[in-house]
Amino acid sequence: YEEVITPVVEHYELLAAKIGEENRKRMYVFEDLGGRKVALRPEFTASVARLVATKMRYDPKPIRLFCVGTLYRYDEPQSGRYREFWQANYELIGSDRPEADAEILALTGNLMESLNLSNCRFKIGHVGILRSILTQEGIKEERQNVIMELLDRKKQDKALQFLEEIGGSRGCINVLRNLIAIRGGEPEGVIQEIREVVKGYGMALTAAENLRDILNLMRSREVKFEMSVEAGFARGLEYYTGMIFEAFIPEISVALGGGGRYDRLIELFGGESTPAVGVALGMDRFILGMEKQGVTLPKDAKKRVLVVPVVDEVRGEAFEVSLRLRRAGIHTEVEVMGRSVSKALSDASRRDLTHVIIVGPKELEEGKIVLRDMEKQKQKTLSIQEALEEIDN
Ligand code: AMP
Repeated sequence: YEEVITPVVEHYELLAAKIGEENRKRMYVFEDLGGRKVALRPEFTASVARLVATKMRYDPKPIRLFCVGTLYRYDEPQSGRYREFWQANYELIGSDRPEADAEILALTGNLMESLNLSNCRFKIGHVGILRSILTQEGIKEERQNVIMELLDRKKQDKALQFLEEIGGSRGCINVLRNLIAIRGGEPEGVIQEIREVVKGYGMALTAAENLRDILNLMRSREVKFEMSVEAGFARGLEYYTGMIFEAFIPEISVALGGGGRYDRLIELFGGESTPAVGVALGMDRFILGMEKQGVTLPKDAKKRVLVVPVVDEVRGEAFEVSLRLRRAGIHTEVEVMGRSVSKALSDASRRDLTHVIIVGPKELEEGKIVLRDMEKQKQKTLSIQEALEEIDN
């Protein structure tokens, strides 16, 4: 996946287009000095879709992109929910095949695994099943959006009540009620149940088969996370057209990440009709999850060096040594507090630096410095070239 960087401030219309009513209400919107209605980005996907519709329009498919950055939503602040938060976003663009959906699911699982998170569970649904039924019943998109939003907020009864109010048929209400009741269990069986419930709705059946194909790919022994299908599961964002999912760990009640297929967003921004699937991972929640599960990342293996002049007279030489080290790609800092060697060493040890180079007049006469390995607590007198090789080892 290749990184793209999108603007923090965007045209309101672009961001508001398909984000869903709930998210739209939570946007930070303002007029800039040029009189344009702009907003702080509440998500990445719209900006990425515009990029694909414009600058990347003729790029060969598939396109795999990621972006990392801060997003802004006027949410009620609480644990794992902030008004400014971080997301890492991955989008696989140009394929409508189940392999692409499976790749995004697997990538999310791999990321959780590589951060040592355990007992990960994925909740999976398919917007196509719900929307196909409502479309076949002649229910307009805006009204479908209201129903999906209520389902997303777990207000299933309200969703069914709304459907009744707008004239949904008894049969349709029953089908939706039965779908909502389907959750959990072994995927093949669940898909069979869904197929039974939606028979009579052709497009919904096709959607259920698409979900079955994705789940079949995920049946590999290599997939380490648990998956549960919920037929009445919906997500707030309005652009989803197919499989949707959220990732959880038991210690946190809110999702660590969520995503799904959005096959019509890129054409909405003037691009070719381009299928796409992606995921947004809440980095704050990943960190919270790691704290709750007591997992730590392996220590940074990078070498970090402090260069200390023994006396002021050799400050220039110490500075020069630091330049050579940095040019060789080594993370280097120079003692700038005028500390004595022993104080500088204890500070370097407190901050987990890997090496200290001590620059003294006596060694300099022979073109040498002292290299101290902080972990082994051993030091050697070496030429700078030798020190560079030793540090790199
Ligand atoms: P969404 O963009 O709504 O699909 O959300 C994707 C992920 O972003 C969620 O699963 C969370 O991990 C994260 N997220 C969404 N809203 C917030 C927030 N207000 N604070 C922290 N993380 C959030």
